Amino acid sequence: SAWDGPKTALPAAISNCTRCPLHRTATQAVLGVGPPDANLMIVCEQPGDVEDLSGTAFVGPAGQLFNQVSQSIGFDRRHAYITNAVKHFKFTARGKHRIHQRPNTSEIDHCRWWLQAEVSQLKPRLILAMGATAAEALTGNGGKIMSRRGVIEHSGSGIPVFITLHPSYVLRLKDHKAKAEAMMVLKDDLQEAVRLAAGETTL
Ligand code: URA
Repeated sequence: SAWDGPKTALPAAISNCTRCPLHRTATQAVLGVGPPDANLMIVCEQPGDVEDLSGTAFVGPAGQLFNQVSQSIGFDRRHAYITNAVKHFKFTARGKHRIHQRPNTSEIDHCRWWLQAEVSQLKPRLILAMGATAAEALTGNGGKIMSRRGVIEHSGSGIPVFITLHPSYVLRLKDHKAKAEAMMVLKDDLQEAVRLAAGETTL
């Protein structure tokens, strides 16, 4: 099911994707959102429960935390193109609850097809990878984030990839101090990514 259509065909092609088994259990594919001329592309992991049901990227708890961080630095997220490394929600059912599961390397590899199509259409100045899945999808390196965050790595596309942690990581932290610190890290990294994508610094 190779995608070779015109620009407008990409969303439909993603929505009809059967490249990996996740489409069987997810409600729908969740597409990227944002202006086609955005300088900054933000890549997260995969849709969560709320996104899977609503069909809209990054509107659940992680997206809300991201909004909070964006607002704190005066950044309007509608200026960025936001998408996920994996387009379908992966979960295990436990009673009425659907528990998030991390996509594996095979799922990331299959969905990279779409991520690369998005990157080549958008040609952003900078890509912000939030968390290990996004970083793996974009750089091929699935290593831990904390030692990599705050710096630029390179993707196959030649577009710089700036690494930061995933908002859900911040949400999961129980310790108040650790949570506040992680929130600051995310804030600093987003601010730096916005600055780099605006071209205020040479990359
Ligand atoms: N987490 C993600 O990585 N992406 C979403 O769209 C929602 C939650």
